[in-house]
Amino acid sequence: MGRSIKRAAIIGSGIMGSGIAAHLANVGIATLMLDIAPEKLTDEEKYKGLSLQDKCVRNRLSYRSKQALKKQKPSPLTSDKSLELIEIGNLEDDVTQLGDMDWIVEVVVENLDVKKQILEVIDKHRKKGSIVSSNTSGISIEKMVSSCSHDLKQNFLGTHFFNPPRYLKLLEIIPTKWTDPEVLAFVRRFGENDLGKGVVEAKDTPNFIANRIGTYGLLVTVKEMLERGLTVGEVDSVTGPLIGRPKSATFRTLDVVGLDTFAHVANNVYEQVTGNEKSIFKTPDFMQTMINNKWFGEKSAQGFYLKR
Ligand code: NAD
Repeated sequence: MGRSIKRAAIIGSGIMGSGIAAHLANVGIATLMLDIAPEKLTDEEKYKGLSLQDKCVRNRLSYRSKQALKKQKPSPLTSDKSLELIEIGNLEDDVTQLGDMDWIVEVVVENLDVKKQILEVIDKHRKKGSIVSSNTSGISIEKMVSSCSHDLKQNFLGTHFFNPPRYLKLLEIIPTKWTDPEVLAFVRRFGENDLGKGVVEAKDTPNFIANRIGTYGLLVTVKEMLERGLTVGEVDSVTGPLIGRPKSATFRTLDVVGLDTFAHVANNVYEQVTGNEKSIFKTPDFMQTMINNKWFGEKSAQGFYLKR
């Protein structure tokens, strides 16, 4: 089958969804980014009797989302031209557009039930033969797609990008027992040649390869160093600049990833292991308290650091 990716949809426009949409636009792919639309109307729009479905309101949402994308640092975009290739919509109103897509990427919150619901919607609206993938950090790809149609199962796999997608080279691809080998081979070639990634095939085990190691390293560092009485700043200094990783220190990384997302990802492994390993993959109580208080990190402007 002669495949090409001319149009793609990204479902979920958070940290990773917007970054992946920008990366696709950077290589010239027209990309539709869909989310649920929780945004509120302004007082003026309410006064005018407008609803979230009204075109002028949706244009404003689109404008605002695009501005937000433009302001991200480091920028996920290589140029304003890339920004023009990104269309923004909401899943409910624009779902039929999924029928035009060559590739649909699920990038919503790290929760199996939510991801399964999204796949059900995709299954209903996609065109047969289109590729569908999930950017999950480590939820079972097989479980996610198990109740979908045969055609979707054959065309589905994990495509795990790393944060930020414009800069980090690694792309893990995760097939299931149903994934058509031709689809896997295409995505590998496409990832390497068109997206400029270093592609690694991973088994469908909790958190795949890099995050299995990454969550372990971060959790052990957080627990051990704080137990030794080091401050957040001190831990970041010895795990960051002092060892030549100025931007990847422990707590800074957690703020960039999002504490809520990190806790879900650690939990992917926590639920599958026993004994001593369980205590390693348990999210510390103080982090859970931060999450309960919506201190998610950069995305909520407050995590271990305050974003100014
Ligand atoms: P995020 O919290 O920044 O964004 C999630 C987005 O999903 C939000 O915009 C939310 O409105 C949207 N959403 C939730 N339910 C939805 C629904 N039913 N329909 C449409 N949209 C919905 O999360 P993120 O960090 O972008 O993570 C997204 C996925 O990528 C997760 O599976 C995560 O594990 C994975 N991931 C995250 C990172 C990271 O560093 N944050 C890295 C690699 C992979």
